[in-house]
Amino acid sequence: MFEFYEEVGLSRPALLERISANVKASRFKHILGVEKAAIKLAEKYGVNPHKASLAALLHDYCKEETDTTFLSLIDKYHLDEDLKNWDNNIWHGKVGIWKMREDFGLQDDEILRAIEIHTVGSQEMSELAKVLYVADYIEEGRDFPGVVEARCVAWDDLNKAVAFETMRLVNYLAERRFTIYPETFEAYNAFIGHLR
Ligand code: GDP
Ligand code: FE
Ligand code: FE
Ligand code: FE
Repeated sequence: MFEFYEEVGLSRPALLERISANVKASRFKHILGVEKAAIKLAEKYGVNPHKASLAALLHDYCKEETDTTFLSLIDKYHLDEDLKNWDNNIWHGKVGIWKMREDFGLQDDEILRAIEIHTVGSQEMSELAKVLYVADYIEEGRDFPGVVEARCVAWDDLNKAVAFETMRLVNYLAERRFTIYPETFEAYNAFIGHLR
């Protein structure tokens, strides 16, 4: 396990302390599950496991922030006004990275981008971003119809895993008549060919 995260200037225990103080216990458990999966995926697919660990540990750090916090961050950093039409599900990644910059001094663009798109994906994803996106979906605590198949695909091919997850996500959201964030469709279109 990693002892120090130079990107945030914190030892592992200090970082875990900060994160666990910001999220409920069940979410902290999920975060550690995502880290475990992300490190394994990183090792399999040639991604820096230390970066995968840090991206995973921080990815849901902002999930319990208030709507007011996100709305003021959108103003403060002059982010896309359209973000105001969405909610916590979209904000905790897309807007959350600005709070992570503030709270941790995190500047690593690859890690920030991976966290930014961990919920919605994107047509262009770094290998680190793919690892985080997939790890979030398959971590050992996840239990939903299709998770076993998702895990199988994840250990077979990373691009297929992104495609599979995005296909299932679009399906899930559409069945429930939820609005779908445009980048989710862009990710779907960019990756679905890997599943054919
Ligand atoms: P979590 O933070 O570990 O729970 O997982 P995610 O960050 O991947 O997803 C958070 C929530 O956002 C989940 O309930 C997803 O179903 C939902 N979500 C993901 N993409 C979209 C989208 O395009 N539109 C909407 N409305 N919800 C989405
Ligand atoms: Fe999330
Ligand atoms: Fe996800
Ligand atoms: Fe998550």
